[in-house]
Amino acid sequence: MHGPQWLERGMKHVWLPYTQMQTTLPPLPAVSTHGRTITLADGSELIDGIASWWTACHGYNHSHIRNAVSDQLGRMPHVMFGGLVNEPALTLARRLAAMLPGDLERVFFTDSGSVAVEVAMKMAIQYWLNRGQTGRTKLLAFRGGYHGDTMATMAICDPDEGMHSLYQGALPEHFIADLPVDANSVRALDELLAQSGDSIAAIIVEPLVQGAGGMLFHSPDVLRNLRMLADRHGVLLILDEIFTGFGRTGTLFACEQAGIVPDVITLSKALTGGTMALAATVARTHVYDAFLSDNPLHALMHGPTFMANAMACACANASLDLFERENRLEQVAHIGQQMRTELEPCRNLSHVVDVRVMGAIGVVELDRIRDMNALKSALIAQGVWVRPFRNIVYLTPAFNITTSELGRLTAAIRTVLAQPV
Ligand code: PLP
Repeated sequence: MHGPQWLERGMKHVWLPYTQMQTTLPPLPAVSTHGRTITLADGSELIDGIASWWTACHGYNHSHIRNAVSDQLGRMPHVMFGGLVNEPALTLARRLAAMLPGDLERVFFTDSGSVAVEVAMKMAIQYWLNRGQTGRTKLLAFRGGYHGDTMATMAICDPDEGMHSLYQGALPEHFIADLPVDANSVRALDELLAQSGDSIAAIIVEPLVQGAGGMLFHSPDVLRNLRMLADRHGVLLILDEIFTGFGRTGTLFACEQAGIVPDVITLSKALTGGTMALAATVARTHVYDAFLSDNPLHALMHGPTFMANAMACACANASLDLFERENRLEQVAHIGQQMRTELEPCRNLSHVVDVRVMGAIGVVELDRIRDMNALKSALIAQGVWVRPFRNIVYLTPAFNITTSELGRLTAAIRTVLAQPV
């Protein structure tokens, strides 16, 4: 395809994420989006199976979100959040506090998931510092986990996972353990905490699904065990719901399925329905209270320039309206049923290791992908936008996807995987 002029010219100056620029396929020039469809510069259309990295849960260009953002743009796009506040941000904080379980009531806004996790890490470490415990500076995270790409968040990702292993020498050391999925691993974690607990500020985990680590699912029991162990050893529990939050696993928040309340939760991605960059780190009252003091240095020392951006917060409020109005969780249940039926036949293919579905996440795990570029091209040739990674082909579509659109996605995956890939 001959691309538009801006593509050829701009590609000489742009650096793409996670991409070997020498060997990668050229990126596709997207020019517009509508519903679940991405339109390319040559007029061709792709059905989006992954909702732009799991963000666009209402599809693209939803009129309610568009109107909210453009109203806010006309009134006040942005004012700094230091010493000034804005109505969309305060309304959003109040609504999030009402939606989240327990007393998760204090919202700190940032503009990306990684930074929301960094803020959660700083909250946990400073929680203990403010209480006079200076030695609790480590996090306990899990193999298979992914919490972001900044230096601090890479340090709590799985060190054996290719993406971040390069940087290990430059990162601070934390504890990385196996998820407590059975009695033995619960016991091992209990022992680790007994030996090292005084140096640990918090346990951090992606609840129910480790996303970028391989779309690995675990049961709500794991979360109940983590809550129990955190309480037993007196450390905080942080749930990173940046992927799972806002319905993706079948409940509004994954932690609801375990009936537990974390001490801190991180949110982003679908928070704005995928339209604008926004993230939030939400703390329980006892965490927040540990920062209240006569000492100015007991305050939380963080403040991104664009935090609580008024347009992004207006956008998130509109997204929450849609969750209230448009029965998203019912749609997630239907998507799950359809994916279960339509992806299951892939299990019969010799190079398929597993097919699994949770909420609106459908995963086909292969033994390995032999030619990633060929697989990606074959999917695009089917008119779908699906981005396999490592040995995983997955779907995380918009929740309002139609039955026939989802059918086209699952058919494309079945067709493409039927050939050797
Ligand atoms: N945490 C989880 C669970 C994620 O899935 C991601 C992104 O995929 C992040 C953190 C990082 O978010 P961001 O890419 O917005 O920095």
